[in-house]
Amino acid sequence: MNAKDALLKDIDAFCRKYGFGKSEFGAAAMGYCSFIRQACAHVEMREKTITRAREWMAKYEAGLSKEQHRAIARGPAGGFVTGPEMARLLSLVEAPTSEDDCWLWQGSTGKQGYGQICRRWKQMKAHRVFYEFYIGDIPKGLVIDHLCRNTACVNPLHLEPVTSAENTRRGLRGNSWLRTELKRLPPQKRKPFQEQESSNCRNPAVSAAG
Ligand SMILES: [Zn+2]
Repeated sequence: MNAKDALLKDIDAFCRKYGFGKSEFGAAAMGYCSFIRQACAHVEMREKTITRAREWMAKYEAGLSKEQHRAIARGPAGGFVTGPEMARLLSLVEAPTSEDDCWLWQGSTGKQGYGQICRRWKQMKAHRVFYEFYIGDIPKGLVIDHLCRNTACVNPLHLEPVTSAENTRRGLRGNSWLRTELKRLPPQKRKPFQEQESSNCRNPAVSAAG
């Protein structure tokens, strides 16, 4: 096998492992998208080009966080997201400095600051995808509560599936959006929530609906 074929084989394995499209590889590593096409069409590849592609792959692998490597090795848990896909989603998360930190979603966000992922023409909430990937299925009928009250956070350890009534109860104290919504309810419907609110002795840093 000559150097070019060996490189193409390595690129193929790399793309499969990390969920890269070949044109993405060309764009990221070589700066132009037609790189793979040219290489496959037997356009002569210089030693320098081969070295550059290999250097880029090594740099990319070394730059992945422990968490990203773990996600790749792990593959899907209860959800639909594959390891390489998760690696790509993790690249949209601000790198946490310590283990307890929030994982802040840097991709697109929707109403109330929840991260959004568009997958196969379906829109999903990022924190739900992370929970399903790392922890498992979200039991039917339950919603995800952000224990850290940060709706942009996707750290699975900050997420807990709860009933929607529990989530509302937890969220009342700290969530101004919910408070505003509550004001719209007729007084007799508002009352049970307010009673729960006054008996809620949990840390005031509480939840938001997910
Ligand atoms: Zn958090």
